[in-house]
Amino acid sequence: MAVNASLRTRLLLLFVSLFLVVGTGTLVTIERTLSGDLLTSLDARLTAQGRAVAAWLEGAGHPERLAPRLSQVTRARLTIIAKDGLIEGDSRDPALTGRPVGDAPEVAHARRGEVGRATRRLGAGKALSYLVAVPTDEGRVVRLAVPLADVQATRKRMRNRLLAGSAIGFVGALLLSFFFIRAVVRPLQSMTRSAERLAQGDYDVRAPVDAGGELGVLARAFAHLGNEVKARVGQLTEQRDLLSTVISGLIEGVMVIDQQGQAVLVNDAARPLVGADIPEALQPLVASAQGGHAADAELELRGRAVRASARPLPQGALIVLYDVTQLRALEAVRREFLSNAAHELRTPITAISGYAETLLAAPIEDPETTREFLEIIHRNANRIAHLVSDLLVLDGLEARASVIAERTSVALAKVVQDAAANVRAFAPQAEVTIDIAEDLAVLGTRDGLDHVVQNLLDNAVKYGGSPVVVAARRLLVAGKERVQLTVTDRGPGIPQDQQVRIFERFYRLDTGRSRDRGGSGLGLAIVQSQVRAMGGEVWVESQPGQGARFCVELDAAAPLASPEA
Ligand code: ADP
Repeated sequence: MAVNASLRTRLLLLFVSLFLVVGTGTLVTIERTLSGDLLTSLDARLTAQGRAVAAWLEGAGHPERLAPRLSQVTRARLTIIAKDGLIEGDSRDPALTGRPVGDAPEVAHARRGEVGRATRRLGAGKALSYLVAVPTDEGRVVRLAVPLADVQATRKRMRNRLLAGSAIGFVGALLLSFFFIRAVVRPLQSMTRSAERLAQGDYDVRAPVDAGGELGVLARAFAHLGNEVKARVGQLTEQRDLLSTVISGLIEGVMVIDQQGQAVLVNDAARPLVGADIPEALQPLVASAQGGHAADAELELRGRAVRASARPLPQGALIVLYDVTQLRALEAVRREFLSNAAHELRTPITAISGYAETLLAAPIEDPETTREFLEIIHRNANRIAHLVSDLLVLDGLEARASVIAERTSVALAKVVQDAAANVRAFAPQAEVTIDIAEDLAVLGTRDGLDHVVQNLLDNAVKYGGSPVVVAARRLLVAGKERVQLTVTDRGPGIPQDQQVRIFERFYRLDTGRSRDRGGSGLGLAIVQSQVRAMGGEVWVESQPGQGARFCVELDAAAPLASPEA
């Protein structure tokens, strides 16, 4: 507002000074001209009257008596001066007759044959007079004098009227300029307000309605500008929001670091990797990108394996972080798995090819030995087949991570009875006791359960020893109905520190003995995968020397209708 007020004041001052300069100049000129005109007409009148009196005086006597009479006609003081410079008659003062006129400049002028003029005080203490002296042909001088007071009074009146007129004009002009200034300043004020609002982020600028002409054009341009800015800002905001949504949704960690090394942007994925400050390990990459060179590295950040890429930005560096911890772990697992599998396969293959070569080299006479060799080859071939099928099962389980969607209600007693029957086929002497209610059911798949129970029972018979007890019961775990199946043997048990590891792939407790018994070390890994796929858990409880108890916990299904009597 201060700017507008000062603009208004300045405009007003400009107008006022313009009026004063122009008005004063005009007044002075008019006054001068009119005063000059007044004097000129007075002079012309007196000169003409002087000439007339001079002509009339020709040959006339008694100038002392003529002077007052002529003065009445001319309405001026009349003095007649003789050739010798003595006053012959004066209309005002008869006593002057016969006295010398003295050194009056107008009279001196007239004596030289021209009309003489002067403005001076006539006589001591007398008023200022205008004097015109006209020579006569006989060498006399006729002088007419008029007091200037009249002219001055007229001048004063005239001046006063002029001043009064000017004052009225001044007030009118002032009013006009006030309205004019207001008409100019108002739209400016409203535009200033709009500009202030625009600067504060309010882009709804409307053109002032009362603005016309150039100001109107300016105001409309201004409103247009406001709309443009609003649209642009809207677009930019939209783009920025989209970009920040994208960046924060990225799996990759993204950081933008300015030239001073301050993190300007850290997205959600990057935060757990870098924390509050840029880690020391990242500094070389940041420096390189700040120097205009792209750089990549794999490094460790807060215990995670991270692939980091640094790219130069116009004002800093862009860092992209990709957490490869899981990838690297999977790679390690895969490498280990491959080498384990190769190792497992190599032993039986070596045995097969060794015995086969022996048989091929020289036919063995003894049919017993031949048969023994062929049995070894057969056993090892079976081992390979077993191993390959285990690998395939494991691969299949991993391919479909979860089978929870396919679970149905499965009668547990039936599964265990079938598995026990299978065990008796290869170990007729094995003693297996089953303690499971007929109506007990779990949520799972028949295939999965068959595999799990068979494996646990096989292991119990192979590594443990009779009697083996398979039991199952319902129980409530964290408010959920579960079924716990236990396979208990009386074998050597499993040391505490191995109880978790036996579930790892290819892990065997007593390698030699276990391999002798045809184990690949994959059985329990498969069991664990299958149990987890059915939404359950498996673990072992064992005191070395006192046997082992494998526990499987699964979701319970509704009890089955009791079998028909
Ligand atoms: P495999 O296929 O060789 O049998 P598993 O994964 O089934 O391998 O078992 C892993 C190891 O756990 C076996 O080598 C064996 O030593 C041990 N083990 C499994 N079950 C028992 C058990 N009931 N008692 C003692 N040891 C066992």
